[in-house]
Amino acid sequence: MAQKPAVLITGASTGIGAVYADRFAKRGHDLMLVARDQARMEAIAERLRRETGVAIDILKADLTEQADLAAVEARLRDETRIGVLVNNAGATSAGGFLDQGPDVVAKLIALNTTAVARLASAVAPRFVAAGEGAIVNIASVVGLAPEYGMAVYGATKAFVTFLSQALHLELGAKGVYVQAVLPAATRTEIWERSGRDVNTLTGVMEVGELVDAALVGFDRRETITIPPLPDDSQWAALEAARQAMLPNFAQEHAAARYRAA
Ligand code: NAP
Repeated sequence: MAQKPAVLITGASTGIGAVYADRFAKRGHDLMLVARDQARMEAIAERLRRETGVAIDILKADLTEQADLAAVEARLRDETRIGVLVNNAGATSAGGFLDQGPDVVAKLIALNTTAVARLASAVAPRFVAAGEGAIVNIASVVGLAPEYGMAVYGATKAFVTFLSQALHLELGAKGVYVQAVLPAATRTEIWERSGRDVNTLTGVMEVGELVDAALVGFDRRETITIPPLPDDSQWAALEAARQAMLPNFAQEHAAARYRAA
């Protein structure tokens, strides 16, 4: 049987990324774990090597640091055994736009969008040349909801969803599978890292259930997977409404409501 592709997972030291590592190892895939906390990744790798026998590399990297990001890009470009990229590392921040300030805003954008796009860009040409490969991007339902009051985080996640849909259109026909996963509130450290208590929330999904559902979408080759959404015709309706506008954008003249009297 052909060797299963290795999977590179960013943000693999805890939370959603650590569960992806567990599940892909149990499916028999070798792993490359990327995050800043080497000790936590070593502990996960040691357990998974013992339990599953897969090979696991650890790449300590701060994806907001240019040199570290370049090192991960090089691995994705050069290591032909990597056949799946899980772009999972991400963060949010306490407070609203006025509380955050330019440096926090820039850091969120660097991690949640720049790193995601650069890593996809590094690996996509090799996947296309091979005619296979998968890019999984962890977005969020917050990217659909300015009402949630998380302006920059939501905007970065809207970017990830858009990028995934566009890459699906551009790369899908060339054999590359692209999936955006849109979790809602999921029990991980992301909440306490941004100064919030997840126990004050209702409707919080456990992280194992979230990843297992996302992998059902992965196996079905869905482009958009929204694990908590009960009725997927609601997403289909949103997409249909958006697509219905497209033929109306190319106009020589402004719409009647914008014409000066
Ligand atoms: P988490 O438990 O806080 O884990 C985040 C992961 O990203 C950790 O492994 C962390 O590792 C890594 N990371 C953070 N900053 C990094 C950096 N600068 N460079 C490299 N790695 C970094 O969060 P999570 O909930 O699992 O989040 C995973 C993804 O799901 C994120 O993209 C998040 O936006 C998305 N999401 C989460 C929820 C939710 O409710 N949990 C909902 C929707 C979407 P180190 O600290 O070791 O670097």
